[in-house]
Amino acid sequence: NREIQLASRPQGWPTEDNFRLVTAEVPTPGPGQLLVRNRYMSVDPYMRGRMNDVRSYVPPFALDAPLDGGAVGEVVGGEADGFAPGDTVLHGLGWRDYALVEAKAARKVEPGLAPVTAYLGVLGMTGLTAYAGLLEVAAMRPGETVFVSGAAGAVGSMVGQIARLRGAGRVVGSAGSAAKVERLRALGFDDAFDYHDGPVRDLLRAAAPDGVDVYFDNVGGEHLEAAISSMNLHGRAAICGMIAQYNDTEAPAAPRNLAQVIGKRLTLRGFLVNDHGHLREQFVREVSGWLRDGTLAYDETIVDGLENAPAAFLGLLRGENLGKMLVRL
Ligand code: NDP
Repeated sequence: NREIQLASRPQGWPTEDNFRLVTAEVPTPGPGQLLVRNRYMSVDPYMRGRMNDVRSYVPPFALDAPLDGGAVGEVVGGEADGFAPGDTVLHGLGWRDYALVEAKAARKVEPGLAPVTAYLGVLGMTGLTAYAGLLEVAAMRPGETVFVSGAAGAVGSMVGQIARLRGAGRVVGSAGSAAKVERLRALGFDDAFDYHDGPVRDLLRAAAPDGVDVYFDNVGGEHLEAAISSMNLHGRAAICGMIAQYNDTEAPAAPRNLAQVIGKRLTLRGFLVNDHGHLREQFVREVSGWLRDGTLAYDETIVDGLENAPAAFLGLLRGENLGKMLVRL
């Protein structure tokens, strides 16, 4: 059994030195516990915040202890009602080969229904984030113009496609490379741009000449400023993430135009996916329907080996992923 521990806390950009691969005993399950051989684990931007020793909506990772996060694996031991050896389960103890999981913290998934990786992405946490943020938090209505940043990532690529399938009038996305922009067009975005190609404000104005009704923010900073500037009267923004500043050591310069929120009567609403579990069933039903009939597609970037999980996480922060970044164990 191996696990990845937090060796030190980063200042600014994390490096491989902040992580340590450790050999550990395979744990023995007690009553109500399952021993799970992990097969895939998720790396997510929020984990960067947990590397800091600050109180937030999730506690920080502890030093010299294994990290954790979403994972799927196979039950190989332990006894608990409703579970049998060979079951595939979703749980929260990634970053290790074998996880000792409380049965009440594990959810059985049907491996025949979709590839198991889907439960960490398109049918899992990031998919629900997109669905809830767009439809409940921003309350997108048919005919509206939607702009999403981080559009080629796990959340963003779902936001754009759900918007299209729910009848948005125009869907615009931004991402960090020409290849990603090309992929967004193939996914049905009406327009997309590489945010390196100029001031985001100008690129967005050109892509959404009639303005933006709904902004789904994954990035913050200059993107948020540009969106505020392009937003129409009574526009709504779902503030999901601000990845442009997770590694900053100083406060961001943008947005400098927040005063426009008043005149335009904008709504900027932050949210956490954890508060939207009531949508899960509807979300899985609707999205799996789109997957079955081929109207929605999803990308995954899969890195092999637990030992490469830190590199996968660092790569995610640098934009090396298309769609959901996962590690195969
Ligand atoms: P992604 O799959 O989108 O991966 C992160 C992406 O961020 C990278 O691929 C990169 O793409 C982009 N990025 C990195 N740095 C910058 C930058 N400086 N400017 C613009 N883009 C950048 O991750 P997720 O889909 O998992 O998460 C997307 C966002 O949603 C994050 O902000 C995350 O924190 C947030 N989130 C919030 C949740 C909530 O409950 N509120 C739940 C889940 C996620 P590129 O090449 O385009 O730069």
